[in-house]
Amino acid sequence: MPEKRIMSGMRPTGRLHLGHYFGALMNWIEFQNSYQSYFAIVDWHALTTKYQNPQEISQNIREIALDWLAVGVDPEKATIYVQSAVKEIAELHLLLSMITPQNWVEREPTLKDMVKMLDANESEAEKKVTYGLIGYPVLMTADILAFKANLIPVGKDQESHLEFARDIVRKFNGLYNVDYFPEPNPKFTATPLLKGIDGQKMGKSYGNDIKLADTEADTLNKVKKMITDRTRIAKTDPGHTDLCEVPWPMYNIFAKDIKEKVKEECESAKIGCVECKTRLAEIINDFLRPIREKRNKLADNPKRVQEILEYGNNKARAFAKETLSEVREIMGLQNWQ
Ligand code: SF4
Repeated sequence: MPEKRIMSGMRPTGRLHLGHYFGALMNWIEFQNSYQSYFAIVDWHALTTKYQNPQEISQNIREIALDWLAVGVDPEKATIYVQSAVKEIAELHLLLSMITPQNWVEREPTLKDMVKMLDANESEAEKKVTYGLIGYPVLMTADILAFKANLIPVGKDQESHLEFARDIVRKFNGLYNVDYFPEPNPKFTATPLLKGIDGQKMGKSYGNDIKLADTEADTLNKVKKMITDRTRIAKTDPGHTDLCEVPWPMYNIFAKDIKEKVKEECESAKIGCVECKTRLAEIINDFLRPIREKRNKLADNPKRVQEILEYGNNKARAFAKETLSEVREIMGLQNWQ
């Protein structure tokens, strides 16, 4: 069994899109071969901003599980679990909150971004901030430390997110004079920036994404709406791949082998953007077809998905139980039966 543990999670806020695939899942499929991998559907985190409308969270847990399994996250290699099924994480959150100085959570730079999710109106959003939301960095730390994870996948710009957890580890180990929790280190991942069809960063809340579970017809319609070279007015005008906002960067991700051909056809006006985007849609649909087929099969068998989640929940719980038993002892608490 690999020695190092890696942990990552996603909030169940809807079906996943290509940005999730290239930004995270593609790497997870590699990690599960090299590390003890813990992948969590973090439903308590979803509640920190969705507590007013929690109805969709259960359904979204299923949707995310289907997406993960369809792309190849393997329940025999990785531990796939639902955060709220592992109550030890909540207890660890509570215990860690006892040693976390108030100003550490208040200075968290990502808190502002989280507050924005509560309401588009800034002052309304402020009114909706809860104790749970302010404490989310402690919960995130509990997610990591319950599994004594050594590595957390992050992009180059997200390293600071981990600093909070590392600070708590140092505080805990120092306070109780132990060398118990390992400091989680960033596992930097190469993540190509995937633009949505409007040229902005792909995100489900922007309505510009291509979902893994979209139909082929939906995908074609979305690709046809992609912003291309805004200076190209007529089909007979030569295009500029360097000004092409979405399709050309997508060719760079999905079809590197034909990009020189596309460039030549574009810049000599041999093809128009409609034709070029239709071909791109076919390439994306070819790529997603096996994922979608697997997803549809699994979606027809909800019992199987439930079993997979329960299997992962049990594995996660077994590990976290041991952690909590030791943490209670370190903190001078009794392990009550
Ligand atoms: Fe972009 Fe293709 Fe149009 Fe060229 S032909 S501008 S690469 S969509």
